[in-house]
Amino acid sequence: MIPARHATSDFACATTPFDREERMQRRIMLIAVFAAVLAVLMSTSFVRGQTAATATPQTPTGAIATTSTGEHFDPAAATNAYLAKVPPDKKAKSDAYFEGGYWLILWDFLASSIVFLLLLVTGLSARMRDLAERITRFKPIHTFLYWVQFLVLTSLLTFPLAVYEGFIREHKYGLATQTFGPWMGDQLKGLGLGVVFGGLLLMALYGIVRRLPRTWWIWGAITSLVFAAFAFLISPVFIAPLFNKYTRLEDPAIRDPILSMARANGISAKDVFVQDASRQSTRVSAFVTGFLNTERIVLNDNLLKRCSVAEIEAVMGHEMGHYIMHHAYKDLLFIGIVVVVGFAFLRKGSEWALGRWGDKWRAHAAGDLAALPLFALLISSYFFVLTPIDNTYSRVEEYEADIFGLNAARQPEAEAEVDLKLGDYRKLDPGPIEEFLFYDHPGGRTRIYAAMRWKAEHLHELGNRE
Ligand SMILES: [Zn+2]
Repeated sequence: MIPARHATSDFACATTPFDREERMQRRIMLIAVFAAVLAVLMSTSFVRGQTAATATPQTPTGAIATTSTGEHFDPAAATNAYLAKVPPDKKAKSDAYFEGGYWLILWDFLASSIVFLLLLVTGLSARMRDLAERITRFKPIHTFLYWVQFLVLTSLLTFPLAVYEGFIREHKYGLATQTFGPWMGDQLKGLGLGVVFGGLLLMALYGIVRRLPRTWWIWGAITSLVFAAFAFLISPVFIAPLFNKYTRLEDPAIRDPILSMARANGISAKDVFVQDASRQSTRVSAFVTGFLNTERIVLNDNLLKRCSVAEIEAVMGHEMGHYIMHHAYKDLLFIGIVVVVGFAFLRKGSEWALGRWGDKWRAHAAGDLAALPLFALLISSYFFVLTPIDNTYSRVEEYEADIFGLNAARQPEAEAEVDLKLGDYRKLDPGPIEEFLFYDHPGGRTRIYAAMRWKAEHLHELGNRE
């Protein structure tokens, strides 16, 4: 990447490099703010559309579909009938699990914020920087050494919460299959990846902050995005296999209908992959991962064990929707906006905070390693506030994939059955505000209603299938 002020142009002599840097900074800031406003407006209008869909089942006003034989089919009633199949004790358990997750978002945020603040006010962060500087004179290595201390220390301090959240609570609700040893092994692998990838990213970012004291936030955002894209690109091939085994689905009775549906929708996939998710949990799941030829459609072995072929087809139709509608690329665009706005916030926030408390913390400028906990605090605050926007963006895409899946697999009843199975870990019938704030997928009622609405409009094609 060539920094702007090193670029030459016909007008180079008319302005100083700093003028140009400043102008460009203002322009990019404007674009970022505009894009952010647009994204928020788009997501709220989508939400309105979706809330209407959620509300419909409770107050059905639309026409009730009629079969060729004169039979009535009411999607709202059918949705209620599906939801009524879940025994009350099971529903209470799933609601409690999912609602507990709302509070965990808050506790995670508070716990990490306290840890970051402690590192700053006790001067521990400054001492970690001093130690890194004593070990070597090579600046990029300072960054790496500081990062290792920071990551290990913050992971240790938040470890009790991580154990509760990732291990104890998952077992309490019967969602986990791992004993403590293998669970801890996965945590350590995650930490190792954090050390390597986080370390590399930070070395690049600090290099930028020190060389471009005014425009670092723009180049930092671009660098972070390139890193994110790279991580996403290599994750199916190099990262995911560290945690799970991925094998080709061999059973023709399941594989062939999936590949046929793929061909019908213009996907030239030769394989469907199975993830041994039962190693960690009982959750039913499938996903699309990677991009630029590393894309893989993956279903997990819990899904394979617990679902009929029709249900698997319904799920794979949804996953193909993500693929066909290029959600991976759109996600990168969305992340791009989030990251650029985030870096602008980091710049303003860090200038303000370091101006006020920098001397106390012995962290004097953005390029000072001792200020890293401040950046971590600003980033976690930013994402905490962004939670509903982030969830809404994802939920809208998931709803699109649901609609695509219904059209591709033509299995509305199977879709509804899978939606009930997802109720193991996601509250089935949330209120509209709850769904807006906390749901990265549509709630069970919304999804089942979409399936039943599809069914109502296709009764003549489906015959009298129930
Ligand atoms: Zn999905």
